[in-house]
Amino acid sequence: MQAKSDTQLVIGPYESANFSREEILDRIKRYVEAVPTRRLIIWNNQGDQWFERLVKLCDVHHLEPYLWYPVLADRMDKSLPDTDELVRSATWQSGYGELGLWDGFVGNDENFLFRCPEHSIDGEEEGREIATTLSRFGFAGVFLDRIRYPSPANGLEMLFSCFCQRCLETGLVHQHRVAEQAVECMVAYCLEGHAMDWPTFVQACGLGDLMERRARAITEVVKTITGGVDRSRFSVGLDLLSPALAPLVGQDYGQLSVCSDWVKAMTYTRAIGPAGLPLEARSMVTGLQEAHREIGREKASRFVEGLLGLPIGSMEDLYQSGGFSVDVLRSEISCAQRSVRCGVPVVAGVELVDHPVFPTRITAGQADSMIAATEATGTPVITCWNLLYIPKENYRSLMR
Ligand SMILES: [Zn+2]
Repeated sequence: MQAKSDTQLVIGPYESANFSREEILDRIKRYVEAVPTRRLIIWNNQGDQWFERLVKLCDVHHLEPYLWYPVLADRMDKSLPDTDELVRSATWQSGYGELGLWDGFVGNDENFLFRCPEHSIDGEEEGREIATTLSRFGFAGVFLDRIRYPSPANGLEMLFSCFCQRCLETGLVHQHRVAEQAVECMVAYCLEGHAMDWPTFVQACGLGDLMERRARAITEVVKTITGGVDRSRFSVGLDLLSPALAPLVGQDYGQLSVCSDWVKAMTYTRAIGPAGLPLEARSMVTGLQEAHREIGREKASRFVEGLLGLPIGSMEDLYQSGGFSVDVLRSEISCAQRSVRCGVPVVAGVELVDHPVFPTRITAGQADSMIAATEATGTPVITCWNLLYIPKENYRSLMR
């Protein structure tokens, strides 16, 4: 029998504007009737009736409904953070930096403006809100997303945050001084052609304290929120960036997996969107090129391959073919498996969409080979990231 996979559904303003209620429900039914599915993870900010309808649909199809909950950015109440709540770089940019900043944030339903995890979030309150929502609609659990600092797509400067007013009030004079120089330090090593992995870079630039503070802050947010959820009734899943990117955004798989029942690794090797390896790696290359006129694409690519632990030549592969190979996918999945605390199951995020908003168009052939590569590692698949946009031919190899 085909192993069950999980899937993710988004019902936001775009979906409401472009589909009728029946069209949305038909697409979901067509998918879950064809693909043996365990968890349906639901992002909905289009009214409570959607939660009611979808939980009912899950009952009928024997699926576990999960509340997909964005914590630090793109929250369900759709409120945009005030500037003083946003993560700030050491060079005083808030929300977005400049170097390598992705131009796709404009006009999107999601803005990826992150709140400071240390000073702009009330984790206990969020935990209570989540617990109420889980009980009220009958969810099986919660899936926490946006539990991180901004990624390279928000601009390279943001990797060395947070130095918002309230963070600065706690001291951090030395961390701040080091962080102000971090991009220059990265540029200098890149110019020298000095390849190094992320931990070596962090150590070489004196960024160890800052990176530890960031990882602690993210873990603390997750701990506090999940502390408000009755774990004997509800399960907790976490949405984590692929292991190559996780340490850049304050996510420590080992520490975080302790606070959860399972972990999804966003092992996206073809998605063009924040959190996808292609866009993030490309933003780093572009950021380095923008930071210094003597840094060309090849030099920057080689340096980024080192930082992210990608095989030499894989950036060129990305520029030529629009994605990374299935070898990269396999190696990211294995790394996620090795990084969680024992016993915490990992599910591997595989993007299968032909997306109308993000420039991600996965072909059936690519879908088949990514699913096969994931299954070969023995890791369950979670189909991403909106089942409404997964063409039928892209899930054929998961069908019963
Ligand atoms: Zn802050």
